[in-house]
Amino acid sequence: KLYNEVQDLKGNIRVYCRIRPFLKGQSKKQTTIEYIGDNGELVVTNPSKIVKESHRVFKFNKVFSPAATQEEVFVDTQPLIRSVLDGYNVCIFAYGQTGSGKTYTMTGPNVSSQEDWGVNYRALNDLFHLSQIRRSSFEYEIGVQMVEIYNEQVRDLLSSDTIQKRYPSIVLTVHVRGTDLETKAVLRGNLHLVDLAGSERVDRSEATGERLREAQHINKSLSALGDVIFALAQKSQHVPYRNSKLTQVLQSSLGGQAKTLMFVQLNPDVESFSETISTLKFAERVS
Ligand code: ADP
Ligand code: MG
Repeated sequence: KLYNEVQDLKGNIRVYCRIRPFLKGQSKKQTTIEYIGDNGELVVTNPSKIVKESHRVFKFNKVFSPAATQEEVFVDTQPLIRSVLDGYNVCIFAYGQTGSGKTYTMTGPNVSSQEDWGVNYRALNDLFHLSQIRRSSFEYEIGVQMVEIYNEQVRDLLSSDTIQKRYPSIVLTVHVRGTDLETKAVLRGNLHLVDLAGSERVDRSEATGERLREAQHINKSLSALGDVIFALAQKSQHVPYRNSKLTQVLQSSLGGQAKTLMFVQLNPDVESFSETISTLKFAERVS
C-alpha cells in the first residue's frame, strides 16, 4: 500500500478542532479560548461571567489555532484522503454552529485563489494529480457526486441549478475506481466530504412553521450522525445508520474499515460560549 498512513492509535475515528479567528470589525471581542496545547489540548473559559467550573479542558487529535492556514489543515488531512486510492472509504465532515467556519474549512472562502482552497478542492486536486502520476500499472477512474440533504430529502446538485438558501448538509462524494492493468483486479474507494448544517439549537418558542420543521430535521440528522459515530467509537454491535438520510448516505464511509475525521469548528467569541460548549460536548461524546 503506497498511500496508507500509520494507523491512528484510537482506531478509525479522529477529531480535529479548528478555531476561526475574529473577523474584521470584531477586534474588541472577548475570547472563550484560554489555551491551546501542542498536544491537542484546548481550554475554554467564559470570561463574561464568574461561574462555577468556568474552565473546561477538551482533548483532540489536533487543534488548529485561528492562525492555521488552509494548507496546514490540509497537510494533516491528506494521508486520509490519499488512502482512498488504496480502496479505503473515508468520511470527513465539519461540525459546528453557523458562522464557525465549516464552509471555510471544507470549501474555502474564495475558489479563485488556490491558497484559500478548502479541503474539497485540495482533495480533488491531489487525487486527480496522484492518480495520473503514480502507479503506472494502475488506471484510475474518478467520479464526483454532489448532493444536498434538506428536510430529509436528498437532492443531486449537479443536475439541478439551485441550492437551498437555508442550511442543508452538502455532501461531496468522490468515487475512485482503480484497475490493475496486469491482473485486472479492481479496487474502489469513496471519499465523502460533508459540510454539515449548522448545529445551533433553535429556540422552539420562536421558531414556527417551515423554520421549526427545518430545525427539527437538522437536529434529527445531526444527532443521528452523533449516535452512529458514538456507536462506532464504542465498537458497539448495533450501529443505527437508518435513523436519518444523512447517515444512510454516509453509511459506506462510516464504520467497518472506513476512516472518519470530524472537524469541530469553533467561533471563539463570548456570545458563542454556550454553542461552543454544546459543540465540544458533541465532540467529546464521539472521541
Ligand atoms: P459556517 O459555514 O460554519 O457557517 P463560514 O465558513 O461561512 O461558517 O465562516 C463564517 C465567516 O468566517 C466567513 O466570513 C468566513 O470567511 C470566516 N472564516 C471562517 N473560518 C475562517 C478562518 N479560519 N480564517 C479566516 N476567516 C474565516
Ligand atoms: Mg456554511
